[in-house]
Amino acid sequence: MKIPFIHNSLVIFMAIGLIVVLTVALGYITYHYTVGRENLAETSLVQSNIKLAENYVDRIEQRIVDNDLILSGMVNVDDRPKWPDMAAAIKNADLNVDQVYFLRPDSNYPLYPPYSHEIRNQWGAFRSSFDPKELGVNNLSLNQPHHLHKERPNNYFFATFILKETRKGDRILICFQMNFDKISALLDKNLRDLHDRFDVSVVDYENNVVYGKPISRSTKYFHETRFPNTLYKWFLQIVPRNYTELELGVQNQLRYNLYFIILSMSLIFISLAIIYIAWQRDRQLRQLKEDFIGNVSHELKTPLSLISMFSEILATGRIQEDSKKQDYYRIIHSESDRMSRLILNLLDFANLGRGADSRHFEKTNIAQLVAKALEAYRHEIQKEGFQVNVQINPDVPDSFADPNAITMALFNLLDNSVKYSADQKRIDVRVDRNNGFVDLTVVDQGIGIPPAEQHRIFDKFYRGREASVRRVRGSGIGLAITKHVAEMHGGEVLVQSQPGKGSTFTLRIPIREALEDPKS
Ligand code: ADP
Repeated sequence: MKIPFIHNSLVIFMAIGLIVVLTVALGYITYHYTVGRENLAETSLVQSNIKLAENYVDRIEQRIVDNDLILSGMVNVDDRPKWPDMAAAIKNADLNVDQVYFLRPDSNYPLYPPYSHEIRNQWGAFRSSFDPKELGVNNLSLNQPHHLHKERPNNYFFATFILKETRKGDRILICFQMNFDKISALLDKNLRDLHDRFDVSVVDYENNVVYGKPISRSTKYFHETRFPNTLYKWFLQIVPRNYTELELGVQNQLRYNLYFIILSMSLIFISLAIIYIAWQRDRQLRQLKEDFIGNVSHELKTPLSLISMFSEILATGRIQEDSKKQDYYRIIHSESDRMSRLILNLLDFANLGRGADSRHFEKTNIAQLVAKALEAYRHEIQKEGFQVNVQINPDVPDSFADPNAITMALFNLLDNSVKYSADQKRIDVRVDRNNGFVDLTVVDQGIGIPPAEQHRIFDKFYRGREASVRRVRGSGIGLAITKHVAEMHGGEVLVQSQPGKGSTFTLRIPIREALEDPKS
């Protein structure tokens, strides 16, 4: 299938860039969405705590108002002789009252209890907190309970007062001074069930604790609500007992979400990198294949034109000298040899690509095989000015091998030594036994191979930089085939090379006495 634009680098780079930008944007949006969601959850929890605190404050206020109504109902201003009884009954009832005063709004002394030496201090303390003028008592609505809540140097003052009118039209102010301990008990009774889940405290304006224990204000889960009408100098404060866990939970959730986003983004980037590398490889391979076709055509063209030229000259019959004719025949022969080697290489390479193997293993003496193959080739390259030294160990034993494949590998190595030699035209060929292997070594004093290229030279189609720069003929498949030949015998090809000094290639073939030798 052909994917449009896939060969266009700009499109690929733009697509990758776009994916990177979109991924980052998506990650950013997702993170902010998560933060928003966590904030929302937090806010709704805080809101529900606020609601809860307000409910409790309302409930306590309601208790006090209910208490006020009872108190109001227990007082009859017209029945003055019964005031002491009424006061005693109120103080004895469980209505939080310490003292009851009946007074005229504009008088400095109470009507009841009658001002006396005994009540002097008590009345003085009461009046220092309760000043009818300051409270604008004359303007109060009749029969409505009102409240006075004050801080005193060592304690708190809390009173309910009601303005009533007698049948005769006299206005009487009744004040109920409340007992602090009883108010505390009222708070405790009504707030007790909150303690299961919350730290609870009631504080005054200076944050002095009136009820409960001091609690932390440093969390967003802290909330305080003022008592609006009755105990209006005080605040109810609550904070969930597990607020550190809640905060940690939110932080962890955010952290996990962040990790998850980073992980997903990393996966996308890694996938992109893999796609990019695969695309680069594919591009390189395509380039190599294109070069390969050009190189092969060129390699075939050169010997073909030489053969055609010399055979044409011979065909005209104009050449008389035998020695010259011999030279031309030799050239035709060696060029056709070169062509057939190249074609064999190509066929072999095609088989290699298809995974097909047309090998014929037989009992082979690699030493003799190499000696024979070198006979003709040696003279050929000696004519090109090469000195060829051959060292063959005659004790190399027979082994099961494919003679044609070994010869092809040898020719590839020799051909390379010739191609990649400069002024130092010397080639050493050695065949020796090395433990359970036969080592076929070809050494040249040529241009050598840079270390960075040494692991790539066995790749299909790969040609070294110098090969291209010096325009050395070749197609980049010789060593790939040589490596394949070594591997199909269960062996390997080793290279040692230094740029400018030469290269040593060793084809290492295991000695196998039978086809199913365990070494295979
Ligand atoms: P090529 O057709 O290019 O010679 P090969 O597969 O035979 O292909 O070799 C791959 C590359 O290895 C060559 O292009 C060359 O750069 C390098 N090479 C192979 N043999 C030698 C050698 N004897 N000396 C220097 N470089 C060599």
